[in-house]
Amino acid sequence: MLKRLYQIMEVNGVKVYAHWSVLLIGCVVLMGAIFEPSTAIPGLLCYYCVILLHECGHMVAAQRKGYPVWSIELYPIWGIARFSEPYSHFDRCVIAWGGVLAQLLVAVPVIVVGELLGPTKYAPLNSIVAMFGFFSLFVAAFNRSLFPSSFEDIAIHEIGRNIECIRQICQRLFSGIGTDWPTIILAS
Ligand SMILES: [Zn+2]
Repeated sequence: MLKRLYQIMEVNGVKVYAHWSVLLIGCVVLMGAIFEPSTAIPGLLCYYCVILLHECGHMVAAQRKGYPVWSIELYPIWGIARFSEPYSHFDRCVIAWGGVLAQLLVAVPVIVVGELLGPTKYAPLNSIVAMFGFFSLFVAAFNRSLFPSSFEDIAIHEIGRNIECIRQICQRLFSGIGTDWPTIILAS
């Protein structure tokens, strides 16, 4: 029977599903890749790995904040991490930034090493570096337009509230571990 979503793996106890169209695109590329297999296959795989990385960032942030994560779903041009509704705007912000942060943590070293070494003679390696480096950085920078999600719209693109979130994150980082740190619910 045809399903809408197919489980492809499990990360941190969270089931990862791919929409059927993602699998179809994979098959089409795989067939077309007979002539150019060295760049097409790693390119496509990396594309979905970048989306998965972003969603895993949300997952780790949500789990660290104590919110259960139900699933990660991969669609043709975006992904969704499903978790229980955050109690505060601050938690919502932390979880939203987790996606971008995960991409940056990988992209920055990849770009630095890639720029230092230059292009290698291995085409698949070059496309991996390109996808996890500048492509991922680009996606992270244009998060809202490329990954339409009202969740991130609310959490990331409100400058005033974000400054407050960043201030609270810094306060926590520099105030020492174990400090009882109240969650401030910001007025809407
Ligand atoms: Zn996201």
